[in-house]
Amino acid sequence: METVTVQGVDVPALGLGTWPMEGERCRRAVATALDLGYRHVDTAQMYANEDAVGAAVAAADVPREDVFVVTKLLRGNLAPADVRSSFAASLDRLGLDAVDLLLIHAPSSSVPIEETMAAMNELQAEGTVDHVGVSNFSVDQLRAAMDASGTPVVTNQVEYHPYRDRTELLSFCVEHDVALTAYSPLDEGGVVGDETLAAIGERHGKTAAQVALRWLLQQPNVVAIPKASSREHLRENRDVFDFALSAAEMERVYELGGGAPARFRDLLGP
Ligand code: NAP
Repeated sequence: METVTVQGVDVPALGLGTWPMEGERCRRAVATALDLGYRHVDTAQMYANEDAVGAAVAAADVPREDVFVVTKLLRGNLAPADVRSSFAASLDRLGLDAVDLLLIHAPSSSVPIEETMAAMNELQAEGTVDHVGVSNFSVDQLRAAMDASGTPVVTNQVEYHPYRDRTELLSFCVEHDVALTAYSPLDEGGVVGDETLAAIGERHGKTAAQVALRWLLQQPNVVAIPKASSREHLRENRDVFDFALSAAEMERVYELGGGAPARFRDLLGP
């Protein structure tokens, strides 16, 4: 599995999104994904599936240390005491001693970021959290989180797909060596019938969904976590590392989001 390396941390470039799967359906999807070579699984306190994710990781024929497990603190659990107690419950549900990455699911309007980051840094010092990050943060909120944390903020997980222009946030991430984890990378399935993506895919023997994922993963610092439940979709989404989009194709897909191509070109570099 290819990785995106930020601040010395290797993040598998492709992960499995698990929302809104729960129970046996979720366990089966994670088990299939691990069997197919996925090494990054995204869950959250909010998803009510940490137990199913943990069960699949435990049963897989893959060493625990080879799987990058991510969970997220619910927005209502960002006060320091709640960070501690809710994360202890997450670990319990996951059946793990530690997670690879703990994210703030969404910024709080009531708890200062300094307090939440300090509590997360404490968990890191205690060894139950390897790395910390955020989700749904703007550039300013990300900057504040980075200033507040005593350890690197490894990623900002945000909605990103061909219909969203993220040039400003991604430029900031590249400049500061932070990953941008793209959630809803298939626009919740919306890219599947896209004629532009399908036409580009035809040239490469790939589907519209694969072009959307390839487009994301070909950008610096971008990690993608498509959700899929069938083996067929899981395999299709995995098979995006054996072709490359041309600069013109990258730009054509970018135009679907309505952004200014010159900025995107700068981001991709020469
Ligand atoms: P998504 O990954 O863009 O799309 C998922 C949908 O696409 C599912 O209906 C899936 O169907 C379908 N699909 C997957 N692969 C396909 C393929 N190759 N061909 C055709 N259809 C395909 O949307 P998402 O679930 O919103 O986002 C992914 C993950 O991001 C979530 O699961 C969650 O882990 C995370 N997320 C995070 C936040 C946040 O606030 N941090 C918010 C939303 C999502 P099947 O299940 O039938 O395969």
